[in-house]
Amino acid sequence: MTTSRRRFLKLSAGGLVGLGVGGISLNAVAAEQVDPENPQAKALQYVHKSAKEGQHCANCMLVQGNAGDVWRPCGIFPGKLVNSEGWCAAWAKKPA
Ligand code: SF4
Repeated sequence: MTTSRRRFLKLSAGGLVGLGVGGISLNAVAAEQVDPENPQAKALQYVHKSAKEGQHCANCMLVQGNAGDVWRPCGIFPGKLVNSEGWCAAWAKKPA
């Protein structure tokens, strides 16, 4: 095996390991849903299922991420995901 081929294989393996670790950490972050029992969530009366007619996370101006996803990031709860059908006291209508 030539030195350059060995070096290439070593770099490739390193790249794959890096991607794997990155993938795992992204999944870990994405899987973290807001716990309604969390003190901040409680203070904002967050629930996974809105009881307010016409008000839910999917039509709140603070929700982020992709329309249609059930769990989405929210500007009020950094690093957490809220349910599209959820609600909290910070709800504000998304501009049309
Ligand atoms: S601010 Fe409240 S209502 Fe709006 S998306 Fe975030 S959790 Fe849902």
